[in-house]
Amino acid sequence: MIELPGSTLFGPANLPYGVFSVPGDRRRRIGVAIGDHVLDVAPLADASSGGGADLAPLLASPVLNPLLAAGRRTWTELRARLTDWIHGPAEVLRPHLLAVGEVELHLPVDVGDYVDFYASEHHATNVGRIFRPGSEPLTPNWKHLPIGYHGRSGTIVVSGTDIVRPQGQRRGDAGPEFGPSTRLDIEAEVGFVLGAATRMGESVAVADVAEHVFGVFLLNDWSARDIQAWESTPLGPFLGKSFATSVSPWVVPLDALDAARVAPPPRDPPLLSYLRDVDDRGLDLELEVALNGHVVSRPPFAGMYWTAAQQLAHLTVNGASVRPGDVFASGTVSGPEKEQRGSLLELSWGGTEPIALPDGDTRTFLEDGDEITITGTAPGTAGSRIGLGEVRGRVLPSRS
Ligand code: CA
Repeated sequence: MIELPGSTLFGPANLPYGVFSVPGDRRRRIGVAIGDHVLDVAPLADASSGGGADLAPLLASPVLNPLLAAGRRTWTELRARLTDWIHGPAEVLRPHLLAVGEVELHLPVDVGDYVDFYASEHHATNVGRIFRPGSEPLTPNWKHLPIGYHGRSGTIVVSGTDIVRPQGQRRGDAGPEFGPSTRLDIEAEVGFVLGAATRMGESVAVADVAEHVFGVFLLNDWSARDIQAWESTPLGPFLGKSFATSVSPWVVPLDALDAARVAPPPRDPPLLSYLRDVDDRGLDLELEVALNGHVVSRPPFAGMYWTAAQQLAHLTVNGASVRPGDVFASGTVSGPEKEQRGSLLELSWGGTEPIALPDGDTRTFLEDGDEITITGTAPGTAGSRIGLGEVRGRVLPSRS
């Protein structure tokens, strides 16, 4: 077996998939992160074909979509094969390993439909209190169904992509005003990458989530609060969200997150039968949000009210089909404590309580040049931890 740094979050229990290229060669290839390296898997699969299914064609692709389409049995078989390779002779692997610092990582998935949910009770309660003071913070439907909306897949970008400050309309004292957003924000979320397609008219049961969810990545749902607040009634998020969504480059397989599974919070009131939990599908992921390198929040994913299984069941209960490469996101991850809030809107309480940074600076919303980094980890096997990597983005001035 190849030697790995003892502290690595990318050990054999993780094996996340991504897409990379090397300098001087524009070809995009599928890689698996191991330690500080990326394993170029297609040639390895080519060399080791014979015995079992031929996985090489699924891996000789510039995106993960053919692998996503192949379904759970293939995903499990490939993971077993990868595990064998990793534990096998180092000299077989070595020609296919590239230092992670020497490759460029790309958007791993050609994203189809994109849905964003709203699954943290703490986040939804905070937002209700900020935007509708004096009224019930949760809407009457909130504990009966996972609320979501369809977003814009064409502006999903990989970590490291700069984000241009959006411009648009916002509410003004004497009618609408127009200009660069003055309340640019982030939302720390977890995205779920779908594989195995369904047909129109079919629904996915809560119990079948693992047949369709391939894996997870970190997601930053950039949000222009001023644009959002003016445009969203009555149809929901539109231009305040659609300008950019950033994702981390590594898709961590659901199989790597078995040790992270936890019971979701108690359900009160009871749910309709199609949304009832059948097994523990909460995930004990720990996120961290840094602004210009300073940690401003540590949102805990384990307390999310709605699980990915319930979100997928709800997303398809009307017969809407899913395709390989579709993505749905959890919604902002916020915990009960102030330092666990996953958006600046909540951390600064609507801009009224500036966030103090260690260098003496303060922030309510993002300024040009600010960089946001969201990282995540999960329990691995035998007391270890595995990493979800990071999703990073810097704000550039508006082009207006
Ligand atoms: Ca969101």
